[in-house]
Amino acid sequence: MSNKVFELMKDLEHEQVVICHDPKSNLKAIIAIHNTTLGPALGGTRMWNYNSDDDAVVDALRLSRGMTYKAAISGLNLGGGKAVIIGDPALKSEALWRRYGKFVNSLNGKYITAEDVNTSASDMEFIHLETKHVTGIPEYMGGSGDPSPFTAYGVFVGMKACAHKAWGNDSLSGKKVLVQGVGHVGQYLVGHLVDAGAKVFITDINQERIKETREKYQVEFVAPEDMLKMELDVYAPCALGATINDTTMAQLKCPIIAGAANNQLAEEKVHGRQLIDRGIIYAPDFLINAGGLINVAAEASGSYNREKVNKDVEKIYDRILDIFALSAAENITTQEAAMHIAQKRIDDVAHVKSRL
Ligand code: NAD
Repeated sequence: MSNKVFELMKDLEHEQVVICHDPKSNLKAIIAIHNTTLGPALGGTRMWNYNSDDDAVVDALRLSRGMTYKAAISGLNLGGGKAVIIGDPALKSEALWRRYGKFVNSLNGKYITAEDVNTSASDMEFIHLETKHVTGIPEYMGGSGDPSPFTAYGVFVGMKACAHKAWGNDSLSGKKVLVQGVGHVGQYLVGHLVDAGAKVFITDINQERIKETREKYQVEFVAPEDMLKMELDVYAPCALGATINDTTMAQLKCPIIAGAANNQLAEEKVHGRQLIDRGIIYAPDFLINAGGLINVAAEASGSYNREKVNKDVEKIYDRILDIFALSAAENITTQEAAMHIAQKRIDDVAHVKSRL
């Protein structure tokens, strides 16, 4: 990979990649800064036991690029960044987070971190001991806490926009919705769906999460290997990325895909087009899952108001309908339509900045 990093950075148009290592705390982290035209790069830190360092680099690069577009399309004055920590989340320690916080601090605010897969508000608390460039810190410390409820609310609102497109009204009552991954976001999403009267199915690989969700809500469990055998109204990917790929494409039996996971399309162009050809409505991931970012951006701005954040998250509904209209008018995929709008905002702002 080492000789391919620059190639990949060139292809994906990254500004900077920082590799951090501290043997004592067993920290191996990659901070990827994609684009800072609109502002400092804000994006969560993921902890994952990657199969290889190469996989971790690719993940960091892909995820950080998604953050640039997510901030841009959501009207936020933030750039795109993301970090990954290579390792077993069971082995997290105070020393690891504090050492990582020092690395984040060394970037002087060019990168601001937050939670992501396998990281929590209490981990952010440790990071905060070493840097102020962290969001999603607990409420008792003046932060806004876990961003996942806002992400889930945005996905729910976005799913309603998809329902409007598919069936002419927003109602999810009686609709069969499969939530893949009932972690931080997935569980809150299940709550909204159950309240809306949907028939909710869940799948996960973590028995504890399945148990927790079934104790809280009336849902049916489906084994991961069986989920694509089902006839569904909505498939909501809320686990990891690339679940829309060559294998699953042929199996999907649903008119709508709307979920929180980042990078859902294994290959954006190929699979985005195949979804259109199959008549499947796809809500671009970086648009529908922007609720958490909208929330931490409000926290980072220093003037946090939960009610206003919820109103801002609800704007995802109209943005998704706009994307569907652009996709139909230009015969492009919904992902491409969303990227066009995001890229246009970045280019327009870059132009304004170059005039200063
Ligand atoms: P999480 O780690 O809390 O939950 C992920 C869940 O997916 C876990 O319960 C895990 O066991 C399950 N899972 C993993 N592999 C699976 C598989 N093969 N089949 C079924 N289940 C599987 O993470 P989260 O914070 O809920 O985030 C979920 C997704 O949403 C991630 O892709 C994340 O990047 C994205 N996202 C999260 C936020 C946020 O606010 N947390 C914001 C935007 C995007």
